[in-house]
Amino acid sequence: MMNYLIKGARPLGGEPADILVEDGRIAAVGDSLDATGAEVVEATGLIALPGLVDLHTHLREPGREDAETVETGSRAAALGGFTAVHAMANTDPVADTAGVVEQVWRLGQEAGLVDVVPVGAVTVGLGGERLAELGAMADSAARVRIFSDDGHCVADPALMRRALEYVKAFDGVVAQHAEEPRLTAGAQMHEGDRSAKLGLTGWPAAAEEGIIARDVLLAEHVGARLHVCHVSTAGSVEILRWAKSRGVQVTAEVTPHHLLLTDACAESYDPVFKVNPPLRTDRDVEALRAGLADGTIDAVGTDHAPHAVEDKESEWAQARPGMLGLEQALSVVIETMVEPGRLDWAGVADRMSVRPAAIGRLDGHGRPIAPGEPANLVLVDPAARATVDPAALASRSRNSPYAGRELPGRVVATFLRGVPTVLDGKATR
Ligand SMILES: [Zn+2]
Repeated sequence: MMNYLIKGARPLGGEPADILVEDGRIAAVGDSLDATGAEVVEATGLIALPGLVDLHTHLREPGREDAETVETGSRAAALGGFTAVHAMANTDPVADTAGVVEQVWRLGQEAGLVDVVPVGAVTVGLGGERLAELGAMADSAARVRIFSDDGHCVADPALMRRALEYVKAFDGVVAQHAEEPRLTAGAQMHEGDRSAKLGLTGWPAAAEEGIIARDVLLAEHVGARLHVCHVSTAGSVEILRWAKSRGVQVTAEVTPHHLLLTDACAESYDPVFKVNPPLRTDRDVEALRAGLADGTIDAVGTDHAPHAVEDKESEWAQARPGMLGLEQALSVVIETMVEPGRLDWAGVADRMSVRPAAIGRLDGHGRPIAPGEPANLVLVDPAARATVDPAALASRSRNSPYAGRELPGRVVATFLRGVPTVLDGKATR
């Protein structure tokens, strides 16, 4: 195994230091380290962060390998600075048994680019009627700790309560896609002035907020952990702030696209901007940024949702919801949070690595950059700027909402347990 001397990087944006990586671990952090025989990675001007952890990735395998595979999605993740991603359960077949989650986990191991951590479905077939084999998935080789019917809401409150009670036995968490389906039938975009003007059926903020309010009360009642996926409204942030002040064990994530884009994008009728939950208003975006800054929102989760051309490049009404996120997530966070001074680099490490790793109960990720720790690291050039070209992405799909947009920050290198998966901004395999 090759050893590496990362020279002159700034851990969490602090003073420059050398980082010596030996046998997959950080052996030393300090000035002018002697590292005879180690490969030198010149990192002057680069920020060193713990490898990023995504709570919310759609890898599409098994079932839709034309849109993404575990390998292509893993490569996109590594290029985005991630060392671990949670793979959502809405595959075909659905990841609702020990067999399917082990298959996804094994494919991730074979690709070897990031740790692929399967999410287990809450209900059989995402059907919302019967609990899946949660315990068997938790006990499997995939060690599932996050359970979600994402794409669908666990709408039945009695079933949601039972799921919350069940996962307590193995310190699991239910990650809810908060959407009251009877309020969003036929919805095409955020319900407000713009949907009225465009004549598109609206998705009201209350459909998200009502479920979050219900679920934090259920989580409090049964004393279980709840995680809220892709929070998108100002009202949701208020409910989470209230719940946390009461001591409810609730965590939440926001997507990069909800931090940057608004429902004004729908005026283009370009289906690349169709997503669930929909892009909201300027006021919501401001509340999400404030919530991420003050920690009410714990984490950034990409909701990376690759779609094949025929599912996305159609009329708005027919297009599948969802957009790519892994390769530009860090750049969007730099643009919306770091450059405006709302989050420093330690804050980025916290919201994109430390807290997501803790929510997923992952070992070896989200750790300090310190001797003895596993060398899961990313080196970022904060001064670089680039225009996003979908054709250049590693993802098998092309539905990036950032096409043609200039964004700051470039991932120069990513290390997974001391092995570079990205060097000089390029995937190593
Ligand atoms: Zn979702």
